[in-house]
Amino acid sequence: MSDTDPTTSQSLLNLNKEELEAYFANAGHKPYRAKQTLEWIYKNRIDSIDEMLNLPAAMREDLAKEFHINDLQHVETSGSKDTTQKFLFRLNDGRYVETVFIPASKGLNGKQSDRKTICVSSQVGCAFGCKFCASGLAGFTRNLTAAEIVGQMMAVEKATGDSINNIVFMGMGEPLANIKNLIKALEIITGHWGLNIGARHITVSTSGLAPQIRTLAEFPVPIRLAISLHGATDDVRDLIMPVNKKWQIKELFDSLHYWRTHKKQKISLEYILIEGVNDSLDQASILAKRAKGINAKVNLIPYNTVEGLDWVRPSEEVCYAFRDIIADAGINTTLRLEKGHDINAACGQLRLKKETSEGIIEAPVKARS
Ligand code: SF4
Repeated sequence: MSDTDPTTSQSLLNLNKEELEAYFANAGHKPYRAKQTLEWIYKNRIDSIDEMLNLPAAMREDLAKEFHINDLQHVETSGSKDTTQKFLFRLNDGRYVETVFIPASKGLNGKQSDRKTICVSSQVGCAFGCKFCASGLAGFTRNLTAAEIVGQMMAVEKATGDSINNIVFMGMGEPLANIKNLIKALEIITGHWGLNIGARHITVSTSGLAPQIRTLAEFPVPIRLAISLHGATDDVRDLIMPVNKKWQIKELFDSLHYWRTHKKQKISLEYILIEGVNDSLDQASILAKRAKGINAKVNLIPYNTVEGLDWVRPSEEVCYAFRDIIADAGINTTLRLEKGHDINAACGQLRLKKETSEGIIEAPVKARS
């Protein structure tokens, strides 16, 4: 017996504990069968229902008529074992997603950090078209399922032999535009019966979908939130983030106040500094006030200049002056000056290359990372 064709059945990674219990109850079985199944998947990490040896053969056969386990095929890795690695996965419909693994490194204090971070994708492509990002270049294709989101973490752990303890939703796609599957994936990732990762080690990054921020605020686990802000006023943010035309800064910050009433964790405001676009000291002052109003921290990221594009990174002096205004207002601020390490800005590149070479999508006009 082998699992059913993955294109005609669904992955067990799409089911939370209650749904799996309901499946076994409907089939006339005891609830502990769900517990056994979950242990095989998330603790023993088996690849096939056939390997669930404490389930009777007939039960496994019935389960395999409707379900399979893996939806991701690992096709390519770039980077080296000691540094950031980018994984490319093929999905059952021939599309590709990429996932970035950032292993432990030396922290600022020189001590070895035990943090092993994964940057996961939430959609194939993206509809939001932020002006600094490669993921939106070929437009939006589809949402990832919960199984495809959770599967990225399991597949990277399998490939690296490492245990991931930090997850950021900063890969391809806008996670809050896929909020139903995002919440299901978060249930599985944080569940003690699932991957059992502490919610405080999970950050969801969004371009600013105000209504969905409120919905996620009500998800009762203490995950963290990062906002791709990149402009402190609507006129400036409009130049970089098309999403701002739909949910302007006031509405966005109202939703962040709402988030603050539900979660204790600090919100992060991400701000890519672009010369002559959003790096004025006025923007810095307004950003400082906005951050103070929601007790947020600010991460400043100088733009990675790319040949052929009009935008450039400001000088170091301008970056420091911008940073100082925010820091002097008492805001926790970071400024990353190194070049070429911005995994977020580089997201989507591998998948674009692969799908273009296979004729699945048209070649992008220009790369923007
Ligand atoms: S930054 Fe995020 S939301 Fe914006 S285009 Fe890229 S993937 Fe989409």
